[in-house]
Amino acid sequence: MNIQSLWAATAEPDVPLSSLQGDRRCDVVIIGGGYTGLSAARHIADSGREPVVLEANSLASGASGRNGGVVSPKFRVSFQSVMQRFDRDTALHLYRTGYEAVDSVIETVDTLGLSEAKLTLNGHIAAAHNDKALAGLQATSQWIRQETGTRSSVMLDAEEVAQMTGSQRFRGGMLTPKAGGLHPLNFARGIARHLHGRGVQVFIDSPAQRVECRADGVVVETARGRVHAQQLVYATNAYSDLTPVTASLHRRIVPFCSAIIATEPLPSAVLASLLPGGQVCGDTKRMLRWFRVIGDRLIFGGRGAFGKDGSNAAYKALEENMAEIFPQLSGQPIAYRWSGLVDMTLDGLPHAGKLDERRFYAIGYNGGGVAMSTYMGARLAELTAGRPLDLRLLAGERLNPIPLHAFRAPGVRLAAGWQQFLDAIGH
Ligand SMILES: Cc1cc2nc3c(=O)[nH]c(=O)nc-3n(C[C@H](O)[C@H](O)[C@H](O)COP(=O)(O)OP(=O)(O)OC[C@H]3O[C@@H](n4cnc5c(N)ncnc54)[C@H](O)[C@@H]3O)c2cc1C
Repeated sequence: MNIQSLWAATAEPDVPLSSLQGDRRCDVVIIGGGYTGLSAARHIADSGREPVVLEANSLASGASGRNGGVVSPKFRVSFQSVMQRFDRDTALHLYRTGYEAVDSVIETVDTLGLSEAKLTLNGHIAAAHNDKALAGLQATSQWIRQETGTRSSVMLDAEEVAQMTGSQRFRGGMLTPKAGGLHPLNFARGIARHLHGRGVQVFIDSPAQRVECRADGVVVETARGRVHAQQLVYATNAYSDLTPVTASLHRRIVPFCSAIIATEPLPSAVLASLLPGGQVCGDTKRMLRWFRVIGDRLIFGGRGAFGKDGSNAAYKALEENMAEIFPQLSGQPIAYRWSGLVDMTLDGLPHAGKLDERRFYAIGYNGGGVAMSTYMGARLAELTAGRPLDLRLLAGERLNPIPLHAFRAPGVRLAAGWQQFLDAIGH
């Protein structure tokens, strides 16, 4: 079975990077070489301070190099529920933050000239898998129109969704025009190339193994080197269990496996019917399924209780799901299969904050971090500069450890199984 990702097979060459050897000094040491870490490094360097990035494996080897590349302003929670639980201002703040996150991807691509990221903004379709889900989308769309006064979401009937996706499976949907997709690995490599070009040190194969907080700064140790810095940023997200240095963050999230398949090149008649407008699409199931057309292939992804790595069963389930949504793809050979970890937080939201005066973090993208982690990288640069930030629901103080975290593995299986059951009975 080919478990290489389509992205790895089609990416621009990696920047030549090496592992940390010996002692270095800098202003901010960043642990994690995904979008959060790379974006933080870029903005810290922009502010005239010197960052150093330590990545445990290859660049963007976590979720950033293997995700679906969907760029969207959406959150797992609905604005209506936020308004009910908190107030209108808080819900509007969250809504605006989603779009600021999309803007931060656009700004990064434009400013750094990352044409290789292949960013397209043809819109995102949320396709309703049943009438209840369609009613939920209608409520969201109505809330957006009423409370923001914009047309940033457009309701679609079943026929329109069928024409726009190539699937008859959905009851209707909601189009978010300012959303789209990119080549995730090229996006990360592009930011790294920019950092490399301006002399920012990014080290790969350098897992942080020990962190020492001293009166005059922090020291991060790897197998063959040490970085002395004034401040530390943790940017390890769902991969916070790689070494014990991020154990306290790991207790605040529940990692889930998310898997993707990519078809072999499709016959042109079949291809022409799939997402002809170039939108990206996700359904409304709790265990989300989503798809995009990349060149002459369809890529199809979903979440599940698949264990730590994608298993044969997970990929088979994805193929079945794809054939259910697109009967015309039944039996189509699959060229690529790959998986990675996403993380869930108790409130379904990402958070950025500080552990103490020197240590900062952003974590908890809940499977929607392409735009949000790029955005949070910029916020981390501001936080480390001591700038007060109004993150509201995304503030770090709101991120609590998960009770009984030690039992998360069976818990994840139970939770995922329950959600799949609710999806299956159409609840
Ligand atoms: C299969 C899949 C599909 C997804 N699809 C989408 C999508 O379509 N749209 C979307 O918005 N989001 C998607 N996501 C989520 C998105 O990819 C993530 O939210 C985002 O990439 C998180 O970026 P990050 O930099 O915070 O974390 P990561 O990219 O995971 O980076 C964390 C890095 O930290 C490193 N690390 C960990 N511990 C250490 C240590 N001790 N020392 C040094 N380095 C360390 C890891 O090796 C890793 O590279 C998907 C995720 C997956 C897995």
